[in-house]
Amino acid sequence: METHDVTNQVPPLCGYNVFDASATIAESLARFDAGWAETALRTLGERAGSDEAIGLGFAANRNPPTLRAFDRFGQRVDEVEYHPAYHALMDVAVTNGLHASSWSDPKPGAQVARATGFFLWSQVDAGHGCPISMTHAAIPALRVQADLARTWEPSITARSYDPQLKPRAEKRGVLLGMAMTEKQGGSDVRANTTRATPTGGGGPGAEYALVGHKWFCSAPMGDAFLVLAQAPRGLSCFLLPRVLPDGTRNMFALQRLKDKLGNRSNASSEVEWSGTLAYLIGEEGRGIQTIVEMVNFTRLDCIIGSAAGMRQAVSQAAHHLAHRSAFGKLLIDQPLAQNVLADLEIEAEAAELTFMRLAQACDRAASDPREAAFKRIGTALGKYWVCKRAAPHAAEALECLGGNGYVEESIMPRLYREAPLNSLWEGSGNVNALDVMRILAKEATAIEAFHDEIRSAHGLDTRLDLAAARLREALHDPADRERRARRLVEQMALVLQGSLLVRFGDPAVADAFLASRLAGDWGQTFGTLPVDTPFAAIIERAAPQRRLLTPGR
Ligand SMILES: Cc1cc2nc3c(=O)[nH]c(=O)nc-3n(C[C@H](O)[C@H](O)[C@H](O)COP(=O)(O)OP(=O)(O)OC[C@H]3O[C@@H](n4cnc5c(N)ncnc54)[C@H](O)[C@@H]3O)c2cc1C
Repeated sequence: METHDVTNQVPPLCGYNVFDASATIAESLARFDAGWAETALRTLGERAGSDEAIGLGFAANRNPPTLRAFDRFGQRVDEVEYHPAYHALMDVAVTNGLHASSWSDPKPGAQVARATGFFLWSQVDAGHGCPISMTHAAIPALRVQADLARTWEPSITARSYDPQLKPRAEKRGVLLGMAMTEKQGGSDVRANTTRATPTGGGGPGAEYALVGHKWFCSAPMGDAFLVLAQAPRGLSCFLLPRVLPDGTRNMFALQRLKDKLGNRSNASSEVEWSGTLAYLIGEEGRGIQTIVEMVNFTRLDCIIGSAAGMRQAVSQAAHHLAHRSAFGKLLIDQPLAQNVLADLEIEAEAAELTFMRLAQACDRAASDPREAAFKRIGTALGKYWVCKRAAPHAAEALECLGGNGYVEESIMPRLYREAPLNSLWEGSGNVNALDVMRILAKEATAIEAFHDEIRSAHGLDTRLDLAAARLREALHDPADRERRARRLVEQMALVLQGSLLVRFGDPAVADAFLASRLAGDWGQTFGTLPVDTPFAAIIERAAPQRRLLTPGR
């Protein structure tokens, strides 16, 4: 039509390599012991930026899973049906080992390589990352019960995605979930009322019958779940299979699926158990200590997931600004748009270095107690801060696309809806902040490991040294720590991120981070960096697509 000339619209961001879209990731892989994984990760990054993968992400979210509770004769079925796009996303994740490679091949850098893969592929769709993350995280907790781990681990680590509910022995690969939260309490799992009664003598590895419910149980088509229930000697952790070894279905009554703000490709259910069989992991009464092994790894994945959301948001924002003109020139050449984009990039790079360093600590924890202690405190404060930053970051990146960012055909509404979730689950903001306070009060080695980490950047920048000194003082003050918890954890996280950027990051990004986040020359929103920030250098890092994809493609 004569009236319908389309000009100054931005071409879709596709056909690019997601690996190359993050300068930090490409620069840091070898530094964090995973240089050997670069070729495979680059291949996955290529796939994640392909038209096909991006299409799968959209399809899996546009066609959310549905519950089939009963068959047409009224018999319970308790199955969830997913769109084929979801299965395709899962298949790529599993065949690339994102659910278990760091455990099946635990060489130096294995956690970093797996974390980076999870970061890349999560940018296509966050929802399917939930079962992938839970499966990965369940393994160290399952290993508490050696006989169960021996039986299950080969099936868990297999790089084969098999969505049918079948007995473990008949499956090529299995996936795990976690069910802790009940109606009357999520953060406070001590309030769990689900009861576990031994069917025989009881004890580690023995069979129990569970009666109760779970209020949130994500990825309910998983093959087995790590769950908490009250056994005779207290709250305990169990492995609960969906199908029993003889092929009969374990009692797992799916009541309904949650109608969620985001994370729509992933099913989250309410489930009732009545005489449901499960196997005790570890000692009765030690459920929290056992499942915390799993929770710490899912918390790390929350950090990675938030970093992935930020990177995808920056890539979209940079791409748009690089192709859209207003008031006579490209937006990316407008000083205030540059300030916003650079600020978003700094936040994303700080998040990326945080997860890379924590994944490295996971790699080293088994042979280095200091790394184990750093991992403990770093995961809690990183989970608090990186996940909290995701929501304002997504909102600002969305605005970079103007009206187009508010429209579902762009990925921005999905990123925005997803952003609060990582902060909320696996211990919401306050719970993580209070966890850090608990460490501060009781775990001297973890606090010392944190200070050691900061000290390794001592002398590299006076702004960082001053912030570290202020932090030390604040941490020494025992007064009213619970009420001050968020403030303290925020300071800790910023000093940690500053130290990581100074040691391992790009100098321009590190400088701008310290000037804004630690030296205080910063406003209340993104886009308030000081005017002498090296904008050009930072924006070049945010917009590699400028080179990769030219207008009119
Ligand atoms: C999409 C989705 C999927 C989920 N999937 C699963 C799953 O698969 N398995 C599972 O077990 N759970 C799952 N959850 C549950 C999730 O982990 C919990 O919702 C979360 O841990 C918070 O628990 P709650 O909802 O009971 O909130 P509450 O514990 O009631 O907390 C409410 C608020 O109070 C704050 N708060 C709690 N204690 C304190 C305190 N002492 N001091 C100050 N503030 C406090 C919290 O930070 C929070 O902001 C899922 C949740 C969502 C949204």
